[in-house]
Amino acid sequence: MSDNKQISFMRSLCMGEIEEELIIPFPQLNENELGTVKDILPTIDNWLKDRGPDFRKWDRQAELPPEFIEEMKQMGLFGVIIPEEHGGLGLGATAYSRVLQQVARHDGSVAITAGAHSSIGMRGLLLFGTPEQKNKYMPKLASGEMIAAFCLTEPGAGSDAASIKTKAVREGKEWVLNGEKLWITNGGIAQFFTVFARTEKEEGGQMTAFIVTRDMPGVSVGPHEDKMGLRASSTTTVFFENVRLSDEHILGEPGKGFKVAMKVLNSGRTGLGGGCVGAMKHVITEATKQAKERTQFGKPIAEYGLVKQKIGHMIVECYASEAAVNMVAGLVDQGYEDYAVEAAISKVFATECLWRTADEGLQIAGGNGYMCEFPYERIVRDCRVNRIFEGTNDILRLFIALTAMNDVGKQLKEISKSLDGIFDDPIKGFGVLSDYARRRLSAATGVANEKGTFTKIHPALKDYSTVFEEGVRDLSAAADRILRKHGKNIIGKQFATKRLADIMIDLFVLACTLSRVNSSVAAKGIANCTKEIEILTVFSGQVRRRTKGNFGKIDNNDDELIKSLADHAYEIEGYGWDTI
Ligand SMILES: Cc1cc2nc3c(=O)[nH]c(=O)nc-3n(C[C@H](O)[C@H](O)[C@H](O)COP(=O)(O)OP(=O)(O)OC[C@H]3O[C@@H](n4cnc5c(N)ncnc54)[C@H](O)[C@@H]3O)c2cc1C
Repeated sequence: MSDNKQISFMRSLCMGEIEEELIIPFPQLNENELGTVKDILPTIDNWLKDRGPDFRKWDRQAELPPEFIEEMKQMGLFGVIIPEEHGGLGLGATAYSRVLQQVARHDGSVAITAGAHSSIGMRGLLLFGTPEQKNKYMPKLASGEMIAAFCLTEPGAGSDAASIKTKAVREGKEWVLNGEKLWITNGGIAQFFTVFARTEKEEGGQMTAFIVTRDMPGVSVGPHEDKMGLRASSTTTVFFENVRLSDEHILGEPGKGFKVAMKVLNSGRTGLGGGCVGAMKHVITEATKQAKERTQFGKPIAEYGLVKQKIGHMIVECYASEAAVNMVAGLVDQGYEDYAVEAAISKVFATECLWRTADEGLQIAGGNGYMCEFPYERIVRDCRVNRIFEGTNDILRLFIALTAMNDVGKQLKEISKSLDGIFDDPIKGFGVLSDYARRRLSAATGVANEKGTFTKIHPALKDYSTVFEEGVRDLSAAADRILRKHGKNIIGKQFATKRLADIMIDLFVLACTLSRVNSSVAAKGIANCTKEIEILTVFSGQVRRRTKGNFGKIDNNDDELIKSLADHAYEIEGYGWDTI
């Protein structure tokens, strides 16, 4: 573990340095939490295992019945991350993510109801609340007497969260809050809202986070949204009309609400990641049973290569996603502060792996997969939104790569002047990137050491660490080349930016997977890790091929042609060719 809690594995990597002490050994739950989690998991399974028909019914009805929400409260699902002194379980990020994973193995709507409460709804209070605020609300949030919701999105402000219009205006000692928040998870059942509002100037003004409760005059909610998936979870508009607040309702510092929002979203990502891993495990269980039971052409379909190919890929993606999600949770639990890039990567990777797994699971089930009687179609519907909410994967990719280029750009003396200021607000949704390169240099002690290679990887895993190390060398060279090529126009070069992000995603997940297998080998011996090494072999091969393709496309691509086709489609508003 590094003493410098400001350090980021990925941001260092972009400068060619492998900070292996951040990721090796693979993080483990401490004994205390491990015991608690081991008690909770079977309790969740026993509670939910026979509820399949209910979940299907509630999906159709588009509502979790109040009696079931009562059961969730009794199970303590709303108090998982709340400190024990306030009546919760006080679990850290890793344990919380694991608990949510277990819930998501049974149903997405239940997982998102619990997850939106802890991951984003009340997390601002946990991270930024004063002792008085915590004493007042935490016990009720732990018991579920108050369910929490996170209110950032508005009709005109989605990805561009900084452009919200909801406003809180000073009137004497009070604040008067007016505005409308869209698609708020738990909106219809929440009593506690973390609300982001513009304060001070109307245009370009700062943002402040407020605690608002359902019982305040002027708070109301719209009808339950009719959604594609997660249908039983509550999603509503929340309205604030002349809601009167005092300074005691401010969360964090006035004017620093954007920081609160981003910190909440970053630190909550391991909840969503855990949910994705749980849903993948569910699909794998169902799909393997289905493949063994279904016979076609005289054999169980499980025996056919194309079915095995799907299952094998699901296993690799589930293992790699779990490695990335647990790694980020481990960084959070160890007190590292700069994990935004790693958290964004784990969200993008896990949500996309779940999407492919759900789709392939449905394919293995064939026509049954399309029938509502089976769980596959619901899982496909439920998991689609994961790539949209808590930051779309497209915006997160921009954030991941622009952070790297910001850091690399600072080091390129000859062009750093011309880049001055361009990353200050690359995508408003993620705010100003900190000057990592300078911060890191000033934090470094002693003589600069060679950090381009791993030293803590078992010799039997050398081939895989070499794939990673070569990728790292190419990564910093690629970031450098892209910046030199595009200079200050880089902000508009999203094709190139996405490629860099995809390389970074692959490399981080490979590092996590390598670390996970490395720790397994250390604990169990190489002979007992053959399957995990097979996973690593497949995944590192995929990463090598994908990154090679992405590096190759930096200079040789059809980006301009693709843009030209899109421009043509915009012009005629559709597809321009017909065979008749
Ligand atoms: C079921 C559900 C639950 C939700 N729960 C909550 C909640 O609890 N609290 C909350 O505050 N919000 C919530 N949201 C809102 C969610 O966070 C937003 O939908 C999300 O941030 C995206 O915003 P948008 O839908 O307005 O899409 P837009 O921002 O309009 O984006 C549309 C498309 O354009 C792309 N795009 C946008 N800008 C750029 C750019 N600069 N470059 C390239 N591509 C770009 C996006 O990636 C996306 O593909 C929820 C949404 C859903 C569907």
